Amino acid sequence: MQNQRLERLNGPTLSMQTIGQLDQQFVWHPFTQMREWMQREPIVITRAEGATLEDSRGRKYLDANSSIWTNLHGHNRPEINEAISAQLHKVAHSSTLGLANEPATMLGAELIRAANPSSLSVPGTNPQPALSRVFYSDDGSTAIEVALKLAYEFSRRTRQLKRPKFLSLQGAYHGDTIGAVSLGHIHLFHRYYHGLLFRTDTVMTPYCYRCPFNRAQPERADARAYRKCNWECVDKVAQQFERRRRVAQDDYAALVVEPLIQGAAGMIPQPAGWLRKVAEIARAHQSLLISDEVLTGFGRARQPSTGQPHLFASHAEDVQPDLMTLAKGLTGGYLPMAATLASQPIFDAFLGDYADFRTFFHGHSYNGNQLGTAAALASLRILETPESILQRANLAAGLETFTRELWQSSYIGDIRQVGTIVGIELVKNWPTRTPFELKERAGIRVCEAMARRGVLTRPIGNVVVLMPPYCTTPEQVRTIVESLKESVCEIFGPPV
Ligand SMILES: *Cc1c(COP(=O)(O)O)cnc(C)c1O
Repeated sequence: MQNQRLERLNGPTLSMQTIGQLDQQFVWHPFTQMREWMQREPIVITRAEGATLEDSRGRKYLDANSSIWTNLHGHNRPEINEAISAQLHKVAHSSTLGLANEPATMLGAELIRAANPSSLSVPGTNPQPALSRVFYSDDGSTAIEVALKLAYEFSRRTRQLKRPKFLSLQGAYHGDTIGAVSLGHIHLFHRYYHGLLFRTDTVMTPYCYRCPFNRAQPERADARAYRKCNWECVDKVAQQFERRRRVAQDDYAALVVEPLIQGAAGMIPQPAGWLRKVAEIARAHQSLLISDEVLTGFGRARQPSTGQPHLFASHAEDVQPDLMTLAKGLTGGYLPMAATLASQPIFDAFLGDYADFRTFFHGHSYNGNQLGTAAALASLRILETPESILQRANLAAGLETFTRELWQSSYIGDIRQVGTIVGIELVKNWPTRTPFELKERAGIRVCEAMARRGVLTRPIGNVVVLMPPYCTTPEQVRTIVESLKESVCEIFGPPV
């Protein structure tokens, strides 16, 4: 039977229904209970244009989470298609081990320029070094591994830390490779791999909506706006650094954060000022700051209130990290490609004579791949056009306007937005903030109901994520939000 199927693969008339069946038979999907997957015919995507995905039956869907947060400008974007196609006719891949190539070099220069905007003031007694080098890899997880290894070795070499240790945030997600998982604190994903991980410390994340220090009663607004607290979350970070110094007579090698908003933790945005404050604490302890901008980079997390078209979230708070990781949106959502940006002092710590063996011994086969870097260059050029800047601002404004209506539902507890990213937290009853239990699958059920209405996104537990491509029109934003509203009614009942 398997052989028959495989033979048919070579035939000219493979129906799309067969693709669904073959997928169910052969492909193992990520973060997916495959028993459930195998019971239901999958949606088979065959083409896409702008914010719309089309399946094998000709049904169209709005891509409300930008194909798992990767796509920026929309699908089938002519400039990126052409850049890849032009590069393809020259060379698809040659190694960066011992060789240079044009698009990887050009992208390196452009990324360093974009990552050091002149608007960035660098004040204070603890100077923030510029980012000056780009190390390529393939995915967000590998970008994090690179940052971890650089920070580890940098702190051993320059600060004589014996066992450099990392500090990351509650609920953090930085990828699925073992180093990245070690920084992660999502029990559901990470618990089975404990034995494989190195030890890291964790510290409170500012989750205003569910913060034990927030004394405000729930209101129909983003919890950050009406919170009542004394920045206890920042004190916790300071205390954790002091404890490390006291107990281990050591400082952290690095503090690892997602700037402005933690993504996979549940779209948890930070109150304005938090990043700046914790960056200063880390610097005061000579700790490196690793900004994981895999989700937030490339204009995703633009703060509507500042009006500055920052490409990177860290810069919205005037913070320049020592290491910055980029992936998801780097190629506009086209190809697997990542970059770790490093400061000059970190780069310098790996310089020496050959026989000193201070080399950074790390590198993946597709490092600096020409197709990926060509796509990334084209994407970066689009991002810096006035049209794209305006598009992002309009999308952020549209999301804010249309999601406002959702406060009418008693099953929506928090609507939190950073730039073009929105997290909508479903609750049993908003005045009590009572969460659904994970096994009730509240988020999954709502997203399935949205899919039936032609809108695709994936929840994080009870949080429905809306972050469509920048090209999404106001009409399409309205459709996305309407489908969410109707789906919440369908699953839980009308507003009460
Ligand atoms: C997705 C993500 C990663 C991991 O990236 P992959 O490309 O999936 O390996 C790391 N950090 C953040 C913040 C992410 O959102």
